[in-house]
Amino acid sequence: MNDQNIDENWEDIREGIRAICKKFPESYWQKLDQSRSYPLDFVNTLTKSGYLSVLIPEKYGGAGLSIRAASVILEEIHWQGANGAACHAQMYIMGSLLKHGNSRLKEKYLPEIAKGSIRLQAFGVTEPTSGSDTLSIKTSAKKSGKNYIINGQKVWTSRAEYSDLILLLAKSGDSETKQNNLSLFLIDMRPHLNKSIFIKPIKTMINHSTTEVFFENLKVSESCLVGEEGKGFKYILDGMNAERILIASECLGDAKYFIDKAKKYANERIVFGRPIGKNQSIQFPISRAYANTRAAELMIKEACSLYNKNFKCGEESNLAKLLAADASWESADMAMQTFGGFSFSEEYNIERKFRETRLYRIAPVSTNMILAYLSHKVLGMPRSY
Ligand SMILES: Cc1cc2nc3c(=O)[nH]c(=O)nc-3n(C[C@H](O)[C@H](O)[C@H](O)COP(=O)(O)OP(=O)(O)OC[C@H]3O[C@@H](n4cnc5c(N)ncnc54)[C@H](O)[C@@H]3O)c2cc1C
Repeated sequence: MNDQNIDENWEDIREGIRAICKKFPESYWQKLDQSRSYPLDFVNTLTKSGYLSVLIPEKYGGAGLSIRAASVILEEIHWQGANGAACHAQMYIMGSLLKHGNSRLKEKYLPEIAKGSIRLQAFGVTEPTSGSDTLSIKTSAKKSGKNYIINGQKVWTSRAEYSDLILLLAKSGDSETKQNNLSLFLIDMRPHLNKSIFIKPIKTMINHSTTEVFFENLKVSESCLVGEEGKGFKYILDGMNAERILIASECLGDAKYFIDKAKKYANERIVFGRPIGKNQSIQFPISRAYANTRAAELMIKEACSLYNKNFKCGEESNLAKLLAADASWESADMAMQTFGGFSFSEEYNIERKFRETRLYRIAPVSTNMILAYLSHKVLGMPRSY
């Protein structure tokens, strides 16, 4: 099978995911949403089936597949009404470790992650005072002999309570060139919990297991450093292309979910003695959402293809994320309108998915930041910040 082929649809993977999602129907997600609980059984099933380790090379126990395979997995999960947010970071965090981690780190952790005996789900970048301005983070990592001492606070660190490892960005230098000050660490949180790492959950409008994480004189060995000191920002930017592509794939799945639900409902719901779908004011928004979803899908495929070939793909990954997040939000709004009053009923799941898909125009990167990237880096206009 040609893994580089953007037309490869990975039907076997899609079927496998659909079979798993049948065991975790929408009623499962609805219940967890109501109690804001982590979908542990779903994550364990995905892990055991090997889907979360598709990006780990075979020599470390993974499937060694391409980003396109990972993209299809997340798209399909979301298309089925489920949500990959409980575990997607394992896929996109992997890129930084695979590309820049030394072989000791990889040998230590990748086989365990592939087996499912430890989880790498937490990614600590955002801080309360720096927000989108990552270069201004304050969490510090000070060298002390063969160790680093870490102090500071992260916010919106999703899944920290359910992850053994965290990939953490911290400030290790004081150079005038801000981007040379940041370093990336892979830290096993388990021995430090409630001693020098403290996790506080944040209540949110969706079920996302997100938290604040506090580091108080956390002492970690220098062997936790990913790649070289001072190159963390570069590594993160590198990894962000994978993150953008994979989150775009979740948006794509959401958009397809809303379109499927809306067209079915439009055909079945009878008002004024005829299906509401006979009205063009109901049809056209569904068709427009479909057109924009297909366009986003093409851009995702193109970004996957470039990423696989190790070509530059910053522009395409950002475009894919922008277009797919817009398409999923347009589809969500369209589905709310198509379902009318019933869209507000929890029973139909439209309101749950509507809340969930709203996230993607803000996180992991907000639409404004993508537009700024396109304006500055692609179109050559002056920097606005
Ligand atoms: C549910 C959830 C889960 C998350 N999970 C994680 C995680 O696991 N790890 C992690 O590190 N982070 C995570 N985040 C953080 C997320 O990446 C940030 O919320 C996002 O990057 C925006 O940062 P901010 O919220 O601080 O917004 P701010 O930076 O305060 O920005 C607020 C608004 O102003 C806009 N803005 C700011 N500056 C400019 C500018 N110069 N030009 C134009 N517009 C601008 C932004 O685009 C945004 O719309 C998560 C967030 C949420 C809500």
